[in-house]
Formats: sequence, C-alpha cells, structure tokens
Amino acid sequence: MVIETNSPEETFELGRRMGEAAYPGQIICLNGDLGVGKTVFTQGFAAGLGIEGPVNSPTFTILQLYEEGRIPLYHFDVYRIGDVSEMDEIGYEDCFFGEGVSLIEWPERIEEILPGKLTWVDIEKDLERGFDYRRIRVEERE
Ligand code: ADP
Ligand code: MG
Repeated sequence: MVIETNSPEETFELGRRMGEAAYPGQIICLNGDLGVGKTVFTQGFAAGLGIEGPVNSPTFTILQLYEEGRIPLYHFDVYRIGDVSEMDEIGYEDCFFGEGVSLIEWPERIEEILPGKLTWVDIEKDLERGFDYRRIRVEERE
C-alpha cells in the first residue's frame, strides 16, 4: 500500500489510523532519512493508541515505554546502537513478543534480531513533488 501525503498533518493522520489498528506483538519498522517525518508519524501513532502528551525520539535511551494507551507502546530508536547485544540488555524480547506494539526507528541496524513477521513503513521525499510531499509505503512482511 502506498500513501502520498502533502503535509505533516496527513502523515500524523496515517500514523493515528495505524495506531488505532495496532495489536499486541505487532512490530512496525519505521524507515526513512532524517527529517522525513518519522517523529510526526510516531506522534500520530501514539495518539491513535490513546497516548496523550508528547512522544519524542528516544535516541539517547534506545527504548521509551508508554503505558497509558490502549496497549503499551515500545518505541525504539536504534540509530546510536553499537552492537545488537545492547538490545538483549534492554530486554527487547519482552517487547517484541509482549503485550504491546513495538515501533522501531532505523530497524536495519538490528536486522539480525528482527523476527520474520513485520510491518514496514518507508517514508521518502520526492522534491520534484514539493517540499512537503512524502511517499509512504506500508507493507506486511511474513
Ligand atoms: P524524522 O523524525 O524522520 O527525523 P521529523 O518528523 O522530526 O523527521 O520531521 C519532519 C519534518 O518535515 C517536520 O518539520 C515536518 O513539519 C516536515 N514535514 C513537511 N511535510 C511533511 C509531511 N508530508 N509529512 C511529515 N512531515 C512533514
Ligand atoms: Mg525523529
């Protein structure tokens, strides 16, 4: 499925709808360059889960846990991870296979520990279509 958005609000809205549909054990891999809209998407996603208040990038902690929504949100940003063993230390398996939904920014950095069934969300710019244009591909992988 490909969704084209032309404003941060539209990307937020896609995230919100996916947050409403999220289920326990779902793992969402969120891919895209800096400034593409991953945080905008994630904030919408959190709103769709019923999480109130700001959701920021957990870059310095790798994992941020939000428990006030319909189901827990495990928000990973593995941009600064050195080695996948750091994921073990965090106890990622309790998240991936737990009661909540995992959302992972920069998932390719931990490819070797990603399970087979994943929801991929790829966000891209296309400057020929304008500064605010984003092409968002949502794909279920088994
Ligand atoms: P990332 O987390 O991927 O680094 P952010 O979500 O922090 O990116 O920032 C995206 C920036 O792009 C914001 O300033 C946002 O207002 C802007 N923007 C412009 N158009 C869009 C769009 N269609 N979707 C999402 N963000 C957009
Ligand atoms: Mg961000």
